[in-house]
Amino acid sequence: MKCQEIRELMPDLAAGLGAATAETEQHLRACAECTGTLQELRQTMALLDEWQAPEPSPYFDVRLGARLREEAAKQQRKKHDHDWAADELAECELPTKQQGHDHPKFDDQVR
Ligand SMILES: [Zn+2]
Repeated sequence: MKCQEIRELMPDLAAGLGAATAETEQHLRACAECTGTLQELRQTMALLDEWQAPEPSPYFDVRLGARLREEAAKQQRKKHDHDWAADELAECELPTKQQGHDHPKFDDQVR
């Protein structure tokens, strides 16, 4: 059995989804490299299991809370900026229209 063949089976082996065949076990006993790779894979999967634990750590909660507040503040600022820009635009529009009547060029063209 080749290392490549063993490695293709490793995700299942590490996850406990597939039983190692006699051939596979024999190779693992003989090949330190494959044994090491399988162990690493098992550790990674164990970490993933922990990470996906139903109860998030308090640290995760704090981080998430901070992130949510940050996002909320950002949204608030964005809305405020938008309102401010709209207000300024509205204020600018009126004087511009009034000025139009007394615009020298406009008067010249009428005469
Ligand atoms: Zn091997």
